[in-house]
Amino acid sequence: MNTARIVGEGKPDAATEGGLNLKPSARRPSSALLEERPVSPTAGQTTVDDPIFACRDVNVFYGEKQAIKNVSVDVGRKQVLAMIGPSGCGKSTFLRCLNRMNDTIPGACVTGTILLDGQDIHAKHQDAVQLRARVGMVFQKPNPFPKSIYDNVAYGPRAHGLARNSGALDEIVCTSLQRAGLWEEVKDRLHRTGTGLSGGQQQRLCIARTIAVQPEVILMDEPCSALDPIATARIEDLIDELRQRYAIVIVTHSMQQAARVSQRTAYFHLGDLIEVGETDRVFTNPRHKLTEDYITGRFG
Ligand code: ADP
Repeated sequence: MNTARIVGEGKPDAATEGGLNLKPSARRPSSALLEERPVSPTAGQTTVDDPIFACRDVNVFYGEKQAIKNVSVDVGRKQVLAMIGPSGCGKSTFLRCLNRMNDTIPGACVTGTILLDGQDIHAKHQDAVQLRARVGMVFQKPNPFPKSIYDNVAYGPRAHGLARNSGALDEIVCTSLQRAGLWEEVKDRLHRTGTGLSGGQQQRLCIARTIAVQPEVILMDEPCSALDPIATARIEDLIDELRQRYAIVIVTHSMQQAARVSQRTAYFHLGDLIEVGETDRVFTNPRHKLTEDYITGRFG
C-alpha cells in the first residue's frame, strides 16, 4: 500500500493562498464554539482548475456540536464529485452547505467561504431562492409535488419567469423530461399525477424538475437509496449523461456507486475531509490510512 506523505501536510495549498477571502466571516460564531483541535490537512488534491465551487475553511455547527471541520475543497465543472464516508460523518451536512439548505435548519451555523463561480454564496445580496435554482437538489426519497407530471416540471420555470409563453414552457418541460430520460415513458400522460409514477420514474421526474430551471450544479443526496437495482442503474447512467452539462455532487453510502459514477471522490470522517482526489486513484491508491481502512472494509 502506498505510504506517500499526505499531500499538503502542514502547509496551505496553492489555491488557499490565491486571493480568496480567508478573513473570518461575519457569520463566524464566537471562538468558544470552535473546538480546540489540530488542523488536519486533507490528503490528495483539494483544488481543480477553474472550479465551479471553491469552498474554504467551511465549518458547520448544530448548536454547540461541530459537524463539519475546516473543510476546503473545489468542485470541478462538468464532472461528478462523490462524497463517501461512514454514516454521520457530515456528507449530507456539507452537501447542504452548497445551496444554503442548512439555513433552513434551526440552530445550524455555517462559517467559511463558499464561492460559486467566484461569487460568495453568503454575500448580502445573494438570494437563497435564486441560489437554489442555480444549485438544484435531488433528495434520497423522490418527492414529486402532488401535481401533474407537466406541472411538476413547469413549477420552477413558472416561479422564476423563465418562459415567455405557453409554447416556450412546453419546450422547457419537454427538453427537461428528455434530459432526465423520462420523456418517452410519460409523453402521452403529461397531465397525470407525478406521484403515480414508479419510484425510479419519480426520481427522474425530480431530476427533470431540477433541470428545468437551468441549474449549474446538481446536488444529489443518496438519490438511489430508495430504488431497486434496475432503477438505480438507470439513474447512474443518467448521472453520466448529465455531467456533459452540469457539475454534480453526490452523497452515496455505496463505494461501488461512487466508483461507477464519479470522476473525483471525497472521503469524510467525523466531520473532517480526510482525502479527496481522482476516483480511480482514491480507490486504488489511497494516501490516508483512514481512507484505506474505509475502502478495504476495516471501518464502518
Ligand atoms: P452523513 O450524511 O455523513 O450521514 P450528516 O451530515 O447527516 O452525516 O450528520 C453529521 C452529524 O451532524 C451527525 O452527528 C448528525 O447527528 C448531526 N446532524 C445532522 N443533522 C442535524 C440536525 N438537523 N441537527 C443536529 N444535528 C444534526
